[in-house]
Amino acid sequence: MFYVKDHSSQKSFIKEEKIFELLEETKAPDKTKVEEIIQKSLSKQRLDPQEVATLLNVEDEETMEKIFEGARTLKQNIYGNRIVFFAPLYIGNKCINNCTYCGFRSSNTEIYRNTLTFEQLEKEVKALEDKGHKRLILVYGEHPDYNADFITKTVETVYKTKNKNGEIRRVNINAAPQTIDDYKKIKEVGIGTFQIFQETYNYDMYKKMHPKGPKSSYIWRLYGLDRAIKAGIDDVGIGALFGLYDYKFEVMGLLYHTIHFEERFGFGPHTISFPRIEPALNTPISEQPPYLVNYNEFKKIVAILRLAVPYTGLILTAREPVAIRNEVLQLGVSQIDAGSNIGVGAYSTEDKEAYKKSQFTLGDQRSLDSVINELSKEGYLPSFCTACYRMGRTGEHFMEFSIPGFVKRFCTPNAILTSLEYALDYAPEQTRHSIENRINEEVENMKDGILKQKLIEKIKLVKTGKRDVYF
Ligand code: SAM
Ligand code: SF4
Repeated sequence: MFYVKDHSSQKSFIKEEKIFELLEETKAPDKTKVEEIIQKSLSKQRLDPQEVATLLNVEDEETMEKIFEGARTLKQNIYGNRIVFFAPLYIGNKCINNCTYCGFRSSNTEIYRNTLTFEQLEKEVKALEDKGHKRLILVYGEHPDYNADFITKTVETVYKTKNKNGEIRRVNINAAPQTIDDYKKIKEVGIGTFQIFQETYNYDMYKKMHPKGPKSSYIWRLYGLDRAIKAGIDDVGIGALFGLYDYKFEVMGLLYHTIHFEERFGFGPHTISFPRIEPALNTPISEQPPYLVNYNEFKKIVAILRLAVPYTGLILTAREPVAIRNEVLQLGVSQIDAGSNIGVGAYSTEDKEAYKKSQFTLGDQRSLDSVINELSKEGYLPSFCTACYRMGRTGEHFMEFSIPGFVKRFCTPNAILTSLEYALDYAPEQTRHSIENRINEEVENMKDGILKQKLIEKIKLVKTGKRDVYF
């Protein structure tokens, strides 16, 4: 077997030669074979590497349409029409790494470096709460200042910052890989998901793109979430930064990473992210990525990931432009950010130079409210639900997927209750109407019975001012 070597004693579980071999031997796939693979996924089974390679090799439009249809059906059958909302909050942009594509890289002298003080952090959180957010992902450069103690303090500050009815109920983290002891400290303060993107699973390209600092070790990063799981963090999020290497290889890398978790820990990643490189200030590689992924390829990536690992959450970020977001949402995305601002300190100030503190530029700059209004009108059900995490039910996406009736019993009612909170506390009249219409439709469509009765009672509680009501 072929293993990629690194200076560490651990071996890579990304079998590069095998990936190339599979992608070669599944070229020009037979339509019936593709249909069989889609059916396997629709019967709620994770696909094998050979099957995913086969889907990746589909090029003709008609068969591709079958894949899109399969992904839409899977999303609808398993997860329904809910979309969970979150916002990124950038804590600091100091960085000792020199990732060639990132605006925060150490050699970028054009970017203003700053880190939120705890006072500024509170202001940022209040500004996000005032918009109606309940779920955040905190983002950090890699720097000795952003050690585990600092991360825990920022998480604690976020949880204790409340504003009228506003509160943050789930904090996820996107930060550098940690040691097991440091993950333990971070787990203590009650985080949701810990995300680390491998960026590229191709070893040589990884080395080229990450020339300096701790991130230059492919293996340290590859095993980053193994250490998190060993420290007791069950919800981990993987991802690849599309544009660095061949997209087919990266999808296979994400699949092998998933299989590695399944084999080693008995469960897969909580979420998969698939950002494309966006232009960053004074960062030529971000303007012209080595393996640019076009719109059709991006759609294909999302649909195939949905079919390949039907039990994970798929995260689509505001890096993508509106038109693409709208189309890709149907293919199986479960979480999106909206109203995002990725300049450090940019939510609470009218900072005209915020882009000089941000990592890249966003494709979708609409407010949270306009996205919610639009999606509600299109039949989606917005959700700010954090119930599973609060009830100690980790791996919520897996439960939605694997426990019959889970979505009906928990997710849909909780989406209704949290979007009602949003409608009453934060939405302008128009959006309130759109949400209320959606809620009425959802409730009418529910079968009469105890669940419906209980939901109607809880809706009344929210309408009379009670907050944080959930199943
Ligand atoms: N510093 C930590 C790290 O690198 O893991 C965490 C924060 S980093 C800002 C979060 C992610 O941003 C990276 O994992 C990378 O995938 C993504 N990113 C970096 N540069 C980007 C760009 N130009 N466009 C889109 N995403 C980018
Ligand atoms: Fe630093 Fe992360 Fe940007 Fe790399 S991607 S330069 S580690 S902030």
